[in-house]
Amino acid sequence: MDGVEESGNAAAFERAQRVLVGGVNSPVRSFNSVGGVPYFVREARGAYVTDVEGRTYLDYVQSYGAVILGHADPRVTEAVSGAAALGTTYGAPTLGEVRLAERIAARVQGVEMVRLTSSGTEATMTAVRLARGHTGRHKIVKFEGCYHGHVDALLASAGSGAASLGIPATAGVEPSVVADTAVVPYNELPDLDESIAAVIVEPVAANMGLVPPEPGFLEELRSRTAEMGILLIFDEVITGFRLAYGGASTFFGITPDLWSFGKVIGGGLPIGAVAGPEAIMSTLAPTGPVYQAGTLSGNPVATAAGLAVFDALEESSYAMLAGRAQQLAEGLEKVISESGLPVQIPRVGSLMGIFFADAPVKNYRDATASVSKGIYPKFFHAMLRRGIALAPGPYEIMFPGLSHGIDEIDRTIDIASAAANEAREALLSPG
Ligand SMILES: *Cc1c(COP(=O)(O)O)cnc(C)c1O
Repeated sequence: MDGVEESGNAAAFERAQRVLVGGVNSPVRSFNSVGGVPYFVREARGAYVTDVEGRTYLDYVQSYGAVILGHADPRVTEAVSGAAALGTTYGAPTLGEVRLAERIAARVQGVEMVRLTSSGTEATMTAVRLARGHTGRHKIVKFEGCYHGHVDALLASAGSGAASLGIPATAGVEPSVVADTAVVPYNELPDLDESIAAVIVEPVAANMGLVPPEPGFLEELRSRTAEMGILLIFDEVITGFRLAYGGASTFFGITPDLWSFGKVIGGGLPIGAVAGPEAIMSTLAPTGPVYQAGTLSGNPVATAAGLAVFDALEESSYAMLAGRAQQLAEGLEKVISESGLPVQIPRVGSLMGIFFADAPVKNYRDATASVSKGIYPKFFHAMLRRGIALAPGPYEIMFPGLSHGIDEIDRTIDIASAAANEAREALLSPG
């Protein structure tokens, strides 16, 4: 092990907390909701990450879905180093950006034009601004428990009352900033009117655990928004090119007005994208009046990584991904329920999550009821001690990818059996 890192996770965490708030650069990485000291990653390959103590974990975090081919895939690594050697950013357009946009448009029915950004947050922020600028309307509707990045106007929670106006979900967001954001329950058709610019939705909710759309929900949302001239935004930052070759809109056969993408399309480098038909997209500057920009947008290293990922993702990849996820989901459901814990393993294609609940979770209220049982932190640590890394929070999903083989899946199920038994014992004998 190299000298600078031989101090271990606890020492790294202490040192980190002195200069990084909470020791992390994104709160989802902190262990606040599960307790304990986070492992600091030294390196990763395929389905595995190795921490600064030399301990290797079978990893289901996979950068929250950003590395669908697995860590350090050689095709991506070569593309990145090749691109970096030619210069990492120019402030002038490149053909890599054109190629990546062409790939997205070729895969997604309804996408004609793309604006690349440096994160998913920038993509959703741009989509909302574009929707307002294009329609001349001001209100936005979002669904409770859906996450669209840390955009001020989208950091809203459901207020009390049926027609819930949004209230700030965090300090620092003023009530006035979310006053035009209505927050409604997922899987229910909201009241809509002609003051609404856009409805933004995760077509499969994947940030409150995994919550599949109920049959008819997305279809009705599509037809009702279309009737009223409201733009429907699919936030596909997770589902895009993970759920299917063409993402969730292809998977469900529903065409929104705008899409946001991120994660998978950058192969683990910072990226995001807003996409849609030319009639709407051309409202963006420089052809239209809606301003949007970025010094590193369409970065040549990120686009090279994204192109390598698109090269590797074929139609057949998705059947393989879904098959692995199905095997994992069925195995986990079996062994965890055998332990006596209440469990639901929702799955849509390759997307899957774990809820410790007696009945299927349909919205955020159900999700929080399940999380409040406090089972996840016990299960998480029982898995981590046995060498399996899940996300350190109960609202995140699992990301089996193309690097998770049959052996990894089988081992995960075996270990989950022991971990579930341990978690159940711990819950029976508190203290
Ligand atoms: C991760 C995520 C975002 C934000 O993307 P960042 O790159 O973290 O800014 C937006 N929407 C969804 C659905 C996400 O999962």
